[in-house]
Amino acid sequence: MTAAPITTEQVWTALAAVPDPEIPVVSVTDMGMVRDVTVVEGRVTVTFTPTFSGCPALHVIRDSIGEAVRALGAAEVEVRSTLTPPWTTDWIQEDARERLRQYGIAPPSPTGDLSLISLDPEPTRCPRCGSFNVRMTGSFGPTLCKRLYVCDACREPFEGFKSV
Ligand SMILES: [Zn+2]
Repeated sequence: MTAAPITTEQVWTALAAVPDPEIPVVSVTDMGMVRDVTVVEGRVTVTFTPTFSGCPALHVIRDSIGEAVRALGAAEVEVRSTLTPPWTTDWIQEDARERLRQYGIAPPSPTGDLSLISLDPEPTRCPRCGSFNVRMTGSFGPTLCKRLYVCDACREPFEGFKSV
């Protein structure tokens, strides 16, 4: 008896359960990292774009994706990473932005039109009290992906994404 062939839908479903290694409330598909899934005669190829090239979690993501696909019974799994086109915060799924906020990470503002962002960048707001009265305390958070802020209204520090 042979198992039913794996479908791309099954792979996408499995990937939707792979958490972002740094932010466990969102998955790699929530973050828009998975760019392509192909299944050819049981051989699965997953192409993903890491959220930031400086992210140290690259190999963790690669391993997690490989494991999730192998758990479906795939005979061969290839996980490729691509930096072209580069990941943008615009790829983050809408409902994931809300979970990021609840987790205490300020969701990135849409980068939108490049001419708009340079003239009128949407200010970062405190994920706890919603105040715009926040200050950046450092260029980078614990990883290169995030920035550290402190809210002057509720005095709570929080992490925010760099919009890229
Ligand atoms: Zn606040």
